[in-house]
Amino acid sequence: MKTDHCPICNVAVKPENLVRHLNDIHPRHPDTAGLVEKLKQQGGAFVPKRSAEPIRIRRWQVAVAFVVAAVIVGGILIAPYFDPYRNFGPDSCIDEIRVPVGVPYHMHPLLAVVAQGNVQPIPGQIGITSACTHPIHTHSGSDASGVVQIHVESPIAHPFYLRDFFYVWGQPFDANRILGFTDDGTNHVSMTVNGTASTAYGNLVLWDAQRIIITYGP
Ligand SMILES: [Zn+2]
Ligand SMILES: [Zn+2]
Repeated sequence: MKTDHCPICNVAVKPENLVRHLNDIHPRHPDTAGLVEKLKQQGGAFVPKRSAEPIRIRRWQVAVAFVVAAVIVGGILIAPYFDPYRNFGPDSCIDEIRVPVGVPYHMHPLLAVVAQGNVQPIPGQIGITSACTHPIHTHSGSDASGVVQIHVESPIAHPFYLRDFFYVWGQPFDANRILGFTDDGTNHVSMTVNGTASTAYGNLVLWDAQRIIITYGP
């Protein structure tokens, strides 16, 4: 069948418009029904396809997408509040028995404080009360040479700093002060870590087997 002209009136009609032309112009013509049927069987290009229609986004689809997005964003925002360790830090209490052994969970840096040549005793049981064992604490006090073993015991991988130890102990420590001693222009606070001078002071990240010596003196 020639499809660039109407077979009934012979007017030029684009093939894709022929079905509509037949239906609109010759609805009662006896041949119309048969021609339309034939054109549809030829299919393809001459019959407008559903898929050729523009994609229509409906209001309910927008609503569903909005709800899904809200749930995802809400979940991301809320998730941290279900993390029991979200505020974990020096003030937290730990269950010692449940702390896994090993770096970075259970570590034992060593600390000594020497002021004007005198070893400063560091007590045991720092950070331990009947109510709470803090993740940074001591068990035994310092030995004869002034060295105390700090216990860093954390149920999660969490950085603890030298300042956290003094915070739990309740004693001052920074670049100008150590315990009851303050930089007076002659005597200064200095520090070594494993024998090497350090200016980290309270910002030193505690690690297993570190040897930290804080010195106050000229
Ligand atoms: Zn320990
Ligand atoms: Zn302990």
